[in-house]
Amino acid sequence: MTHYQAQDAAHHIHPFTDTAHLNQKGARVITHAEGVYIYDSKGNRILDGMAGLWCVGVGYGREAIVQAVSAQMRELPYYNTFFQTSHPPVIELAARLTSLAPEQMNHVFFTGSGSDANDTILRMVRHFWAAQGQPERQVIISRKNAYHGSTVAGASLGGFSVVHEQGGLPIPGIVHINQPYWYGDGGDLDPNEFGLQRARELESKILELGADKVAAFIGEPIQGAGGVVIPPLTYWPEIERICRKYDILLITDEVITGFGRTGEWFGADYFGIKPDLMTIAKGLTAGYIPMGGVLVSDRVFDVIANHGEFYHGYTYSGHPVACAAALATLNILESENLPQRVKSDIGPYLQERWLKLAEHPLVGEARMLGLVGGIELTPNKTKRAPFKVEKGTVGLICREHSFNNGLVMRHVGDTMIISPPLVISHSEVDELIEKATLTLDQTYAQAKD
Ligand code: PLP
Repeated sequence: MTHYQAQDAAHHIHPFTDTAHLNQKGARVITHAEGVYIYDSKGNRILDGMAGLWCVGVGYGREAIVQAVSAQMRELPYYNTFFQTSHPPVIELAARLTSLAPEQMNHVFFTGSGSDANDTILRMVRHFWAAQGQPERQVIISRKNAYHGSTVAGASLGGFSVVHEQGGLPIPGIVHINQPYWYGDGGDLDPNEFGLQRARELESKILELGADKVAAFIGEPIQGAGGVVIPPLTYWPEIERICRKYDILLITDEVITGFGRTGEWFGADYFGIKPDLMTIAKGLTAGYIPMGGVLVSDRVFDVIANHGEFYHGYTYSGHPVACAAALATLNILESENLPQRVKSDIGPYLQERWLKLAEHPLVGEARMLGLVGGIELTPNKTKRAPFKVEKGTVGLICREHSFNNGLVMRHVGDTMIISPPLVISHSEVDELIEKATLTLDQTYAQAKD
């Protein structure tokens, strides 16, 4: 371990990290980045197939964001948006964002991250129903393996049992149904039939609880941290139909799927649905400065705005510097037409090559939508069988090979996932595929079963 790594191990508690394991060899220290590449302290250049944590859509080293942030720091580094105050960047950003969002979304509440955007959701939907004389409508239905952040409400909305067990979660009023994970659970069913079946679990749950107790349903259009679970096309329209039938608010968590990742501005646009609320973060500022928010439809806003004060807010809601970073990021996304590029150029180019990885003996399925994809590792392609070793062991081996080959791929159990910057070039896609293939070969040689 270098001195730097030893200091890190001694004093820094890493999120989502097995500290004892980390301390055996020390963290990989990333020192700088440019374009789609990150560089570590040993001088390795690594293609960032995850765009950081799904956030650096416009790539690293964008001078326009740096300039916008530093100019804003000089002009007005901080002011809050509480108690009837506002400032130019937040006003400009609110107008700009709502012009990009689906037509029913004309309002936005700013937060500091995706987790507190989902916390805000919980407070907002309960207030929405209570304000209309239905305070018993408290329950939010979410899904297993969902990831909605790490605050108490975010982690409760999330559907990871290990997280729940460790933290005494979920808090009351949050229940989970199954996710539309066709590869894992679909058996011989046609994917679209399976999608309908899984969506109808929502209806069963509403009937079990009583519609008058249910406030909302929340889901990521594509489950990200749950393993890039891309739902069959039948799923979301059926979810929307059920929400409308029982007058349940429909919320999409667009923290990953927002800002061009699917080839549309938002995942809801891709799946053709009209949510009542959407949470955003990550790609909004490309991760350069932390920021999140809740996009709010006219229907929800009209109730909230006419029932007194909403007792909720953060010191950094609408932080001027974050707003400046977001405006500069949106300028890049729009001027470089990045959602369209994902839809008709670089997306199809990567998809074609990524899906071919399904031919590898270690791969049970390859899937990709826009620029987010997953591959399922399996010792037995035909039976989708799990490995004999503990779940995630082979995925971890694969991730290590990948890093050593100069490619960031993440593993969720034995599923490998990618979400590269939207600006990745054709030759960088070729490099990504070449490194992923080498990584699979090395993993296969080491862990056939
Ligand atoms: N929602 C989704 C879908 C996410 O993927 C994440 C983070 O990965 C979050 C919410 C939480 O966002 P943050 O880490 O900014 O709090």
